[in-house]
Amino acid sequence: MNVLIAEDDRVARAQIESLVSSWGYNIIAAKDGLEAIKMFNAKKPNIILLDWVMPGLEGVNVCKKIRSIKTEQYTYIIMLTAKVNQSDIITGLNAGADDFVGKPFNNEELRLRLEVGKRVVKLESDLLAFQQKLKHQADHDFLTGLYNRSALMARLKEEKVRSVKNKRPYGLIMIDIDHFKNVNDTYGHQAGDDVLKEFSVRIKEFCRAYDIVGRFGGEEFTIILPNAGLNTAYMIAERIRCIITDKPFKILDNEIKITSSFGVSTNMNNIEIEIEEHLKICDDALYKAKEGGRNMVVCADDLKDRLGYSQDVQKGGTIQE
Ligand SMILES: [Mg+2]
Repeated sequence: MNVLIAEDDRVARAQIESLVSSWGYNIIAAKDGLEAIKMFNAKKPNIILLDWVMPGLEGVNVCKKIRSIKTEQYTYIIMLTAKVNQSDIITGLNAGADDFVGKPFNNEELRLRLEVGKRVVKLESDLLAFQQKLKHQADHDFLTGLYNRSALMARLKEEKVRSVKNKRPYGLIMIDIDHFKNVNDTYGHQAGDDVLKEFSVRIKEFCRAYDIVGRFGGEEFTIILPNAGLNTAYMIAERIRCIITDKPFKILDNEIKITSSFGVSTNMNNIEIEIEEHLKICDDALYKAKEGGRNMVVCADDLKDRLGYSQDVQKGGTIQE
């Protein structure tokens, strides 16, 4: 737990420092208000012991300034002051202070008030961690750990906006594991789940760090590829197809050969296209891959004029971006 001590009196500062560090806190110290704000920004302390009367910027203004800075973690502020009448306390509370310790202070009282601060900071950080965990659960598929469908849709909306703004295309890949029902029927649902997990690991490992990979539902996966034209999107899909096909999946005591089919599309030429329509185009391409015999990549071509595709691409084909 880090404590920032802001006190202009050198002797008092040294005394508080040695006292508070003897209680097990990590100390950083500032000699005036401006330095306190600088240190706050640099170190984001958990607790601040803040002298009220200081040259330059007074403690109460330091407090206001710190409360105006957006931070993830809460900082608990204790004002150290001889000003302990009612109107001073109201001024301090209004500025965002959490507690007051009168000067000259009693050591045991200061220790206990720091303990209160520590409890509040701990509760805040537990709450934050819990909120982050809930957010993660709400956005991710429990089985594979990839984004779930609703998170994918949200990210796709963001990517569409970014793409139009930056005049850069984005690619979309929809993947479906071939004959997945056979895996479940032959090896059982646990094996089916294991295949989905291993499949997710393989595509995630292969994708670029900034690609957005999700499980759209069942045995269907979607990848959003920022800044990818059709050629890039096609090549990524083709390579993923190979890393799935090349090595059988070791599930329980079985080696299961898995293949998958891919639909690929992009919003090339920066044409604004509704995401539902874009998904439909990609899904149609995936359907064609299924119809064409599976284990292949098909790029969307039915809107090629509108989307600016230079030629149709089937498995093994090449195109110009
Ligand atoms: Mg002072």
